[in-house]
Amino acid sequence: MHELALMEELQRIALATAAAQGAQRIHTVMLRVGRLSGVDPDALAFAFEVVMAGGIGQGATLELEVVPTQCRCGGCGQRFEPVDVIFACPICGELSADVLRGRELELTGLELS
Ligand SMILES: [Zn+2]
Repeated sequence: MHELALMEELQRIALATAAAQGAQRIHTVMLRVGRLSGVDPDALAFAFEVVMAGGIGQGATLELEVVPTQCRCGGCGQRFEPVDVIFACPICGELSADVLRGRELELTGLELS
């Protein structure tokens, strides 16, 4: 399960950060996830609860920021959010392979105490 492995990695970072700051509790974990990263937000939320259970992060809130996919058309330069898996430019119809964002998966914040 992809999401569980990701959350274990996230937990490892969160715990290391908490330890480095002498924190006793993890309250909120903020994560930015691109639509193209291939992870399911619901599965992530579930995996988060599983990995945080029984530790200093038990009951912590996972704040997910889902970043829409954005492409740039190689033909006309238009930036657009593709509506499906075929990244066709809405202006000229050219297919774009130039993905500007949407693949993110990053820890953007931690609330500790
Ligand atoms: Zn175009």
